[in-house]
Amino acid sequence: MRLVLLGAPGSGKGTQAALLKAKYACAHISTGDILRQNLKDGTELGLQAKGYMDKGELVPDGLVIKMARERLREDDAVRSGFLMDGFPRTLPQAEAFEEILEELGRPLDAVLLLSIDEEALIRRLSNRRTCRACGRIENLLSMTEKPMPEGGAAVCPACGGELHQRDDDTESVIRNRLKVYHDQTAPLVSWYEAKKKLRVVDASGSPEEILRKIQAVLG
Ligand code: ADP
Ligand code: ZN
Repeated sequence: MRLVLLGAPGSGKGTQAALLKAKYACAHISTGDILRQNLKDGTELGLQAKGYMDKGELVPDGLVIKMARERLREDDAVRSGFLMDGFPRTLPQAEAFEEILEELGRPLDAVLLLSIDEEALIRRLSNRRTCRACGRIENLLSMTEKPMPEGGAAVCPACGGELHQRDDDTESVIRNRLKVYHDQTAPLVSWYEAKKKLRVVDASGSPEEILRKIQAVLG
């Protein structure tokens, strides 16, 4: 399975990628996660990316393309396929991606567009929390139990780790990320449509409902 997950921030790419990875046993390649790991490790790439990420801007194409090329050449991706989550995000990235896949002799199966309205996106993003320990993505609005110690942080239902809010999930940065999505990433929709790769999925509802819709369109 070689898939691209396309959609605005908050459309559920990361959540669905985690569910799909368990089903199809392929590599989950999240450029956002790789960049955040580089920030944490204080690498040269992390230092270069930080200013852009803090403002909700895109990291320059050259850096991201190099990073994606290296990751796509790793064994697991070549052998078992991949779910791209957050890449490509611009037309130059999409063109470079085609070249990388051609070099590898591994064409893309489909591009899944997770489609959802803007109000829902802002609501989801401002309530999104990530586990510091295991990376699990939760949403305060949909958590069935709300294990909120008084004045403290919410707790991960999977491992008990601390749930924290991503630095770029604050309202003003969210608005900028949505603008960047409309300006730079949305053009990929018609680009992939013209290549007959695009499959549109309604991304409202629970993660399990959305997963079922995805499996229905993948056939
Ligand atoms: P989201 O999809 O919720 O916005 P991501 O985790 O995919 O979050 O990305 C977080 C940030 O990382 C982006 O706002 C951007 O600064 C950077 N980033 C991730 N992927 C790319 C990419 N393909 N091109 C440029 N910047 C990227
Ligand atoms: Zn956890």
